[in-house]
Amino acid sequence: MSADLHADVLIVGAGPVGLTLAMDLQSRGVKVVIAEIRRYAEPPNVKCNHVAARTMEQFRRLGVAQKVRNAGLPPTHPNDVVFRTAVTGQELTRIPIPCRQDRYTETEGPDAWWPTPEPPHRINQIFLEPILLEHTAALPGVTLLNRTQVTSFTQHDGGVEAVALDLDTGQERRIKARYMVGCDGGSSSVRKQIGAKLEGTPVIQRVQSTYIRAPQLAALISGKPAWCYYSVNPRRCGTMFTIDDGQTWLVHNHLNPDEPEFDSVDRDWSIRQIIGVGDDFEYEVISKEDWVGRRLVANRFRDRNVFIAGDAAHLWVPYAGFGMNAGIADAINLSWLLAARINGWGEEAILDAYAAERQPITEQVSQFAMEHAAKMIKARRAVPANIEEASAEGEAIRADMGREAYELNVQQFCCGGLNFGYYYSGSPILAEDKEEQPPAYSMGGFTESTVPGCRAPHFWLADGRSLYDAFGPAYTLLRFDRNADVSTLLSAAAAKRMPLTALDVKAEKVPDAYRHKLLLCRSDQHVAWRGDAVPADTAALVDLLRGAGH
Ligand SMILES: Cc1cc2nc3c(=O)[nH]c(=O)nc-3n(C[C@H](O)[C@H](O)[C@H](O)COP(=O)(O)OP(=O)(O)OC[C@H]3O[C@@H](n4cnc5c(N)ncnc54)[C@H](O)[C@@H]3O)c2cc1C
Repeated sequence: MSADLHADVLIVGAGPVGLTLAMDLQSRGVKVVIAEIRRYAEPPNVKCNHVAARTMEQFRRLGVAQKVRNAGLPPTHPNDVVFRTAVTGQELTRIPIPCRQDRYTETEGPDAWWPTPEPPHRINQIFLEPILLEHTAALPGVTLLNRTQVTSFTQHDGGVEAVALDLDTGQERRIKARYMVGCDGGSSSVRKQIGAKLEGTPVIQRVQSTYIRAPQLAALISGKPAWCYYSVNPRRCGTMFTIDDGQTWLVHNHLNPDEPEFDSVDRDWSIRQIIGVGDDFEYEVISKEDWVGRRLVANRFRDRNVFIAGDAAHLWVPYAGFGMNAGIADAINLSWLLAARINGWGEEAILDAYAAERQPITEQVSQFAMEHAAKMIKARRAVPANIEEASAEGEAIRADMGREAYELNVQQFCCGGLNFGYYYSGSPILAEDKEEQPPAYSMGGFTESTVPGCRAPHFWLADGRSLYDAFGPAYTLLRFDRNADVSTLLSAAAAKRMPLTALDVKAEKVPDAYRHKLLLCRSDQHVAWRGDAVPADTAALVDLLRGAGH
């Protein structure tokens, strides 16, 4: 056994969730070790293609948003989603999404109006992860161990002791940490070791995915190019994503319920039907992955000092692109809670907020994704035989199918509700409102609100900064009326060393949802408390916020 390593937090797995957690913890002065089986910069599978606005907002805070924004598709390549009879066939409908170059300035379209400083970004995980990795590996206080597998761990009063195997030398080492977080993906061994069980629907949809190189394909695609092509024809329905500047593409072949095995259908034939090309079309298979879309959520997210996050805690069909993004939201939620404990101002019960807040949200998002999957499966079965016909009837069918496809899918590709609508409730560290309930949300729809638990609606400050850029490291007290006396709250926070940043709001336009003189926000942008005056017992409010309430 080689020398022991010590950390505040040991993260198992350097996928997008583990890396984001490491960045966020480091930004709060927490010492982190990340163990990862893969060698440094070994690319992940070509999976996730969408970084949500909510994730980009966090990347902005962590100083990596611009690096991510500058990568992916060429700046002027359309990010639109199109539905066609085949990739090279007739267009049924188009969901317009601004290209990278116009992302901050475009105002027309189903997500161009969103109240955020960082709109979504379309980039494949193979480009995203190396950026997160390089950024994280260079941070002081972060030790990245590649080719290292955490094989077992034990818990004791003061924390966790893990055994890590160096996969190159076969040597083992002990890593001692106060907390450990399993960000070790869908087959998480940490999840199994804490006795958590995945519950839900194990099979919703089987998909054959093939990553291909076909540089000649771009020239065969007529009309305006797109980022995502849905192919709708009676032979084979599927999806194709543009991965780069026209060299490589990812083709998903969605198997039908009567095709229970991955080899029930011919992969090559299916790819040709989805793209709409004959036998003479040449392409190279770079990689292939057959995967099952599920809806599974772990029945517990924690055992004492060990937590799970990301795919380790939940797996579902990646409709709305909220698999990785939901995992990153876990990481952002857990990070500041752990830091509160490690930095000494949060009490033990602050950590209960993680499962109390995130478990219900993952349950809700997974239901949205599953319901959407059911509608997509139904729609694929209902493709009329004459959808490609050159006739008035064919044209009418294409118009109908296009309308339906737009209405159904604009919610998943412009999923405002999943970004801005979800709210935490039943949390031990939120001062829940007795007068008003948080507004309901759907996959696509949301209503801005300042009810505690909701995301504080975004606005720009008079000095040009985003509201979120002015947030402090833990809690921020927004004061909309300078006559409101906040001194007792500030001193109650100082007495417990709870970081509380006071911000006198100066802005040209503040969203209508802000109706109170004072609002307390957390660094993850959720509202924790609001009122027109600080409560008489400010010490009790501070205790609630730092997990010492009852
Ligand atoms: C086809 C497809 C499309 C998708 N599209 C989207 C999308 O558009 N948007 C979206 O948000 N999500 C999408 N997803 C989901 C997304 O890819 C995953 O949710 C995401 O990768 C999960 O990240 P993670 O960090 O939790 O886990 P992973 O990415 O699986 O990373 C886990 C890491 O842990 C390491 N590891 C495992 N065990 C150990 C161990 N014992 N010791 C050390 N290291 C270990 C692994 O090597 C791996 O690097 C898609 C998924 C698929 C299959």
